Amino acid sequence: MTALFISDLHLTPERAASTQALRRFLRQVPDGGDSLYVLGDLFDYWAGDDDLGAPAHGEVVASLAACATRGIALYWIAGNRDFLAGNTFTTAARMTPLSEPFAFELQGERTVLLHGDTLCTDDRAYQAFRAEVRSVRWKREFLARPLAQRRAEIEALRTRSEREKAVKAAAIMDVNAEAVSRLFAESGALRMIHGHTHRPARHDTLMHGRQVCRWVLPAWDATPGYLRVDADGAALIDFD
Ligand code: MN
Repeated sequence: MTALFISDLHLTPERAASTQALRRFLRQVPDGGDSLYVLGDLFDYWAGDDDLGAPAHGEVVASLAACATRGIALYWIAGNRDFLAGNTFTTAARMTPLSEPFAFELQGERTVLLHGDTLCTDDRAYQAFRAEVRSVRWKREFLARPLAQRRAEIEALRTRSEREKAVKAAAIMDVNAEAVSRLFAESGALRMIHGHTHRPARHDTLMHGRQVCRWVLPAWDATPGYLRVDADGAALIDFD
């Protein structure tokens, strides 16, 4: 069995190339047997599950659902851009939502999956924002607004976030070593797979007396690619 991992496609109608790349990628996943894990920020924004009606979004959901029809198991963890994607989305895309972080046995190795933003604990402002928008109350109030208004608010937030990112030190937008260490310890995993930082890499470290490996998935607007894990091991593979 082969497991494939992608994240940070940041799909948006304005950047059709990534949507086309995803469609090509999905087509080359063979029928049956394989699993595909989408670890968040599939969409550049998701204003609520009524956003399924946007043609660009509907197209992506249909491509994913078509994979499920071919016997490919699809799993989902939301990112910071698309955390409002709910059960209506996962049902339509025929994906199984996973709790985050999600620890499981993969090819005989304890593995933990997450989007990755929770590891960026040096960015205190972001973590405070995250705690607010992930609260049940914030989501309920936000989702009660009309879709057009939600989209406009997300657009405004994004503009603000881009401005803030431009002045934030690069280091605080990367993972915090202690947060990584803590998650390895808590999950008992020897392998961690996440995206979010857009710094694709394999990090091998000795931690708590054990050799552990942290894989960072690429962002598709820069370097489309995926992580492949099978019986022979794991590798980051470029995709174009
Ligand atoms: Mn992200």
